[in-house]
Amino acid sequence: MNVERKKFIKTLAIAIPGMVLIPSFLQSCQKDDLPSVSWKGKIVIIGAGAAGIYAASLLRQYAPNATIQILEASNTFGGRIKALEGFADFNIELGAEEIHGKKSKWYDIVSSTNANLFTASRSETDFVMLDNRLESEDSAKSIDAYVKADDAAGTVVRYSGGEVSCEAYALSQGVGSIGLPYFNALTGNEYGTSASLLSAPGVSAEDNLWTSGTANYNVSNRSYHSILEEKFSEALSLVTYNTQIKNIDYSQSDILLTDQSGNTFTADKVIVCVPLTILKANDITFSPILPTSKQEAIDKIGMGAGMKIILKFSTRFWDENAGSIYGNGPVPEYWYTSKGRGNDHVLTAFVMGDKASALSTEGNNAVNIVLADLDNMYGAGIASGSIVDSHIEDWLKNPFIKGAYSFASEAGIIDLRTQLAQSINKQVYFAGEATHTKGHVATVHGAMETGEFVVSEILNEFV
Ligand SMILES: Cc1cc2nc3c(=O)[nH]c(=O)nc-3n(C[C@H](O)[C@H](O)[C@H](O)COP(=O)(O)OP(=O)(O)OC[C@H]3O[C@@H](n4cnc5c(N)ncnc54)[C@H](O)[C@@H]3O)c2cc1C
Repeated sequence: MNVERKKFIKTLAIAIPGMVLIPSFLQSCQKDDLPSVSWKGKIVIIGAGAAGIYAASLLRQYAPNATIQILEASNTFGGRIKALEGFADFNIELGAEEIHGKKSKWYDIVSSTNANLFTASRSETDFVMLDNRLESEDSAKSIDAYVKADDAAGTVVRYSGGEVSCEAYALSQGVGSIGLPYFNALTGNEYGTSASLLSAPGVSAEDNLWTSGTANYNVSNRSYHSILEEKFSEALSLVTYNTQIKNIDYSQSDILLTDQSGNTFTADKVIVCVPLTILKANDITFSPILPTSKQEAIDKIGMGAGMKIILKFSTRFWDENAGSIYGNGPVPEYWYTSKGRGNDHVLTAFVMGDKASALSTEGNNAVNIVLADLDNMYGAGIASGSIVDSHIEDWLKNPFIKGAYSFASEAGIIDLRTQLAQSINKQVYFAGEATHTKGHVATVHGAMETGEFVVSEILNEFV
C-alpha cells in the first residue's frame, strides 16, 4: 500500500476499455521465470484466495505431473476478494477494490478481460472534516491543520529514524487534534490499522520497496470474483470447499492434514495461504510446533479489525465531484462508490484499526452510528433521512479471515515477513499477502506474487 498513490491519482483522467490493453495475461505468463519440472508428488494448498489460486495455476502449468489440491474452509473462492451483488445497479467490492499500480500480473489479468478499468477524473475533489466544518480540498489548502497533516502523511513514508508510531511522528511535525483524523485516514486507515499502531520506519521501509506503479484503477462493469472465475477456471476445479484445516502434522515425510470434521488428507508438500490472523488465532495447529522465529513473526506482524459499510441513499447529498470524504468521527474515510459505476447513490464507509474494533462491537447499530456521523457532516437528518439500504462487511467477524490485512507494526517488519515466509523442511511453505517481503503487502497482486515465490522455490528443488 502506498500513500503517494492517493496524490498521484488525480493527475490521471483515463477510462480504459480492458480489451485494448496489453500485455494480456497469457503474454505476462510467458514472462514467468519458472522452470518446468516432471515431479509427480502431491501438493495441498490451504486457502483459495488470490495467493492459493495463483500458486495452483502456476503449479499446473510448470509441474504438470504433480497432483494439486486446494482445501478451502468457506463455501466459495476468493477470500478477501468478495462482491456484493444485487444491492445496487452495479457490483460492489467488499474487500479488494482498487488495483494498485499497473506493473503487476493482477493488472494484466484484469485488463485481459472485458473489464472497464477507470481512474479518478481530473475534476475529482476530496472533502475533509476539520473541526466542525466540511472543507473541500481547495478551501482546506489555506488551513494550517490540513496542510500540516497532508505534509506529514507525505513525509512519513520516507521516515528513516528510530522506532516511532506514525501518530507520534505526526505530532512531532506539529499536527494537532484538528488535523490528526485526516492524517490517520491517509496513513493508519489506508494501511489497514490506526496511525498509533503503524510503525513509521516500518511503513517507510515497505513503501520504499514498492515497484508496482502509483496510479489506482477501479473496475466499473464486473466483479473481481467473476474475473477469478473466468481466468482461473482450471485451478478452481481443484478446490474442495467447506474444508477447514485444523492440524498439519509434518513429523513424517507424508504430511497429514486434518479438517474440522476429522477427515484427513495427505501430501508431500503443503502451501499455507491463510490470512495471518488465522495463524495468530492458532486456528491451525502444527505438529511439530512451528519454529520460534516463525511464531515470533506471526505474533509481531500487525493485522487487526477492518470493515466496509455500504450505504445506499435516495438522493446524493454529497458533491457530484467528490472522491474521498474524510471524517473526524467514527469513520476515517468515505468514498463515492457509485461514481463512474452506476446511477444509484452509494457511499462506502472504510474503517480500519481501533475505530473498526469499536464499530464491530456495535453489530447492526454501526449503521446508525455512521449515519449520525454523516448527519453531523452534512446537516441534521440529511443522511439518516435518505438511507435506503445498508450492508456491513465486518472482516473481523469472518471466521476464516478474522481481520483486514497485515501492516507494518515495527521497524524490523521486512525481517519478520522473511521469517513468516520461510519454508520448513521442504515440506511446509507459506504464502499470502502478509508473507510479501518486497513491499507489495496487503494487496491482491502482492498475494499472487507470494504464490509465485513459493512455486518458484518448490520447482527449483527439482531442477
Ligand atoms: C476491506 C478490504 C479492502 C481491501 N482493499 C484492497 C484494494 O483496494 N486493493 C488491493 O489490492 N487489496 C486490497 N485488500 C487486500 C486484499 O484483498 C488481500 O491482500 C488479498 O486478497 C489477500 O489474498 P490472500 O490469498 O493472501 O488471502 P485471502 O484472500 O484471505 O485467502 C485466504 C483463504 O484461506 C481460507 N482459509 C482460512 N483458514 C483456513 C483453513 N483453516 N483451512 C482452509 N482454508 C482456510 C479463507 O477462507 C480464504 O479463502 C483489501 C482487503 C480488505 C479486507
